[in-house]
Amino acid sequence: MIYENCRLCPRRCGVNRYEKKGFCGTGTEILSAKACLHQWEEPCISYRNGAGTFFFSGCNLHCCFCQNNAISNELFGKAITYSQLADIFLSLQEKGADNIELVTPTHFVPSIIKTLDLVKHKLRIPIIYNSGGYELPETIDLLNSYIDVYMPDIKYFSPKVSARYASAPDYFEYASRSVLAMTRQTGKPVYNAGGGLIKGTLIRHLVLPSNRHDSMKIMDWISRNVPESPVSIMNQYTPFDFIDDRFPELKRRLTKMEYNSVVCYAEKLGINGYTQQQSSANEKYVPDFDLSGL
Ligand code: SF4
Repeated sequence: MIYENCRLCPRRCGVNRYEKKGFCGTGTEILSAKACLHQWEEPCISYRNGAGTFFFSGCNLHCCFCQNNAISNELFGKAITYSQLADIFLSLQEKGADNIELVTPTHFVPSIIKTLDLVKHKLRIPIIYNSGGYELPETIDLLNSYIDVYMPDIKYFSPKVSARYASAPDYFEYASRSVLAMTRQTGKPVYNAGGGLIKGTLIRHLVLPSNRHDSMKIMDWISRNVPESPVSIMNQYTPFDFIDDRFPELKRRLTKMEYNSVVCYAEKLGINGYTQQQSSANEKYVPDFDLSGL
């Protein structure tokens, strides 16, 4: 029903996805390029054997520097049915996954709900919703009781920056409201004995070259509005060859000064969470989208 007049995210395309594709580039068939045990997420997510990660193809943001460009922008992937997706979740659990991590799930929320209705009673591990943060709070409300841990990005603060990199001048307005909806749903973070996050909202932020002041405004908002949420400040920005010449400021790596200044600022505000080594800014950490695990 929702797909017939798709308004799942702030783009509110209003297209019938049975016939046409909206901004996210996908119809109604679930599209994916990989499912695997993922060892390199934050320690509270990949704490034992790794997250059981399922990558959805397509995206409602299309950021010009996206490290998952092959699937988010170029839409590489294979069509998967609901029952196949349910079997993939069970198979990840059998391989020892610490959780089921849904990566870039926003444009497939109705399909995720349908799949979880089939299989949630057989899953003993938390379900994680790892998104770019450009969400409608109403869509997050649909996920109540299906999702245990939200892992949203807050990517941009300034409308000028989000318009430039993702054609989404209203990004922060929706990301901030959605993070509030997520934290209302999950409550305070809860960890198991092994240090795994089993309930709560973990916010991620990737510091971009030439944009550290935008990052600091995001930290201000977090400390004032969701001070109990752990925050992962990411250092893995990688200037890929495909970045357009219109964005010369993005064609270099982040400097130590840029990253450290954001981390120090967050620490002064009392924000807790995770930081990342600069060595993580390497193409080798981009998953190989080879349809494995599907
Ligand atoms: S999910 Fe896709 S089709 Fe639906 S409103 Fe968002 S971008 Fe448009």
